[in-house]
Amino acid sequence: MDASKTDLYSLTPVELHLLLARWGFSPVHARRLWKYLYLEFAGTFGGLRDLPARVRDRLSADTRIGVLPVAADTRSSDGFTHKYLLSLGDGERIESVLMRYTGRATACVSSQAGCAMGCVFCATGQMGYRRHLTAGEIVAQAVHVARALGSAGEPRRLRNLVFMGMGEPMHNYEAVMRASDILRDPAGIGLASNRITLSTVGVVPGIRRMADEARPIHLAVSLHAADQETRAALVPVAGRWPLDELMGACRHYCETLRRRIFFEWTLIEGRNDSADHAHAVGRLLRGLPAQVNLIPLNPTPGYDGEPTRGEPARRFQRILGEHYGLPSTVRQRRGIDIAAGCGQLASARAREA
Ligand code: SAH
Ligand code: SF4
Repeated sequence: MDASKTDLYSLTPVELHLLLARWGFSPVHARRLWKYLYLEFAGTFGGLRDLPARVRDRLSADTRIGVLPVAADTRSSDGFTHKYLLSLGDGERIESVLMRYTGRATACVSSQAGCAMGCVFCATGQMGYRRHLTAGEIVAQAVHVARALGSAGEPRRLRNLVFMGMGEPMHNYEAVMRASDILRDPAGIGLASNRITLSTVGVVPGIRRMADEARPIHLAVSLHAADQETRAALVPVAGRWPLDELMGACRHYCETLRRRIFFEWTLIEGRNDSADHAHAVGRLLRGLPAQVNLIPLNPTPGYDGEPTRGEPARRFQRILGEHYGLPSTVRQRRGIDIAAGCGQLASARAREA
C-alpha cells in the first residue's frame, strides 16, 4: 500500500467530483466511479470496466482504494453475527462486526485502533490507545460489511451502522463525521441519518459540538452508573467530565435537536444492577427523551466482573418502565462465543501472537 496516494474511500462525493474535474475528466466518470466504489464494491482499478483507460491510469497512479485485508473472520455458532479482524496498512488491527439478528443488517465499526479512555471492563480500553482511524479506514469497514452481505447471497443492503466497535468516536470526531457523511450519500451506501448511531463514553465537548453542528446522526451515551462515584470506578474519564456536566450536555443535545438519546448500561453483577441503581437511573434521566440499552457484561480477561443474568436484569428493566416510563431493551448476547464484545477479538489475537 502506498500511503502517499489519496484513499478514494476518504473523499466525499463533491471532493471526488472536484478531483476528477481537476484532471479534466467528466462528472459522468466521477458518478460512475462512485457507483463502482459503493454499489459494486470494486476493490481494484481493474474492476472499473467501463471507465476509459486514461481515467483508470490516472486513478491508479495517484489514488488507491483503501480496502482492508481480513486477518481473521469468525461467525457465531447461531450464524447471526459475523466478526472481522481487519488489517490496517501499518500493521494495526481493528474489528468490524456484521449483525443480522434483528432481521436487518447492522455494521458495528471501529473509530480508533485501541482506546485512550480506559474503561475497566472493556477489552479495547485494556489495550490502550494506538491511533485514530482515517475516515477512509472507517468507510472501508462499512464497505467490507456491505460486500459480505451481498456475497452471502443476500441482496439486502446495509441498513444500520453503529460506532460501537473499538475506540471512542468523539476522540476522533472529524474522521467519524466525515465517514458518516460519505456513508449517507444516497448515490452510494445510502444509510439513512437516523440509522447511524454514535456511541460515546461521555465526552462532553463532543456531545455539545454534535448538538451545535446539528449533526443528523443518533447519539448513544455509555452511562453505566447514575452516581459519580460508581461511574468513575468503571469509566475513569468521568473524573474529567463529571456526571452533572455530562447530563447538562445531554439536555443541551435533546433541547437543541429535539431528539432523544440512547443510554447504554453494561450490567455487571453486584456492581450496578441493583434495584437502587435502577431507581437512580430513573431519577437521573427524568424529563429527558431517553431510551436505555442494557448490555449484560461480556467478560474480558482483564476484569473480574460477571454479567447480570435473568431476573435481576428483568427487575432493572421493570423498574425503569413501571416507575419512570423509561423504555429499555436488554441487548441479546448473541455472538458471545466469538468474543463479539468491544475489542475482544483483537486483544485475544494479540495474546495468541
Ligand atoms: N467508546 C464508545 C463506543 C465503543 S464501546 C463508548 O464507550 O460508548 C460500545 C459499547 O460497548 C459501550 O457502551 C461500552 O461501554 C460497551 N462495552 C465495552 N466493553 C464491554 C463489555 N466487555 N461488555 C459489555 N459491554 C461493553
Ligand atoms: Fe474506549 Fe468505549 Fe472501551 Fe471505554 S468502553 S475503553 S470508551 S471503547
